[in-house]
Amino acid sequence: MEYQTIRYGEPFQIRRRLGNLFKDIVRIKGVEYERGKGFIVRDYYALTNLNKILIRMGLILTPMVKCVICDKNIECEKCSFTDVCLKDVTTCLCDECLYSDDVVEKYLSTSRGYFEDFRRSI
Ligand SMILES: [Zn+2]
Repeated sequence: MEYQTIRYGEPFQIRRRLGNLFKDIVRIKGVEYERGKGFIVRDYYALTNLNKILIRMGLILTPMVKCVICDKNIECEKCSFTDVCLKDVTTCLCDECLYSDDVVEKYLSTSRGYFEDFRRSI
């Protein structure tokens, strides 16, 4: 089995000859294809459905999510919570931030930022 890491919302190429399966893939809700760029997967549910097709060709796509505090990329499969996590997220906390002493303050100040953005937008 081959694993390929992707990021939600960013185009990537599928390293397989898709043939007729291409039509099935772009029919999945949350999966798009942009000519010249590649496939875009919007969320974990779309990725799960896409993997149901790709697994038959020996390929599994694994998501890379961003740390909500420091913006670093996190590989879900390498995370210590991978077996218990639903992976239905596009942001997470990296180990470095998670185990830092002031993680709660950092997290709150980040979420406060989101909250203020949200309030400004309504
Ligand atoms: Zn982090």
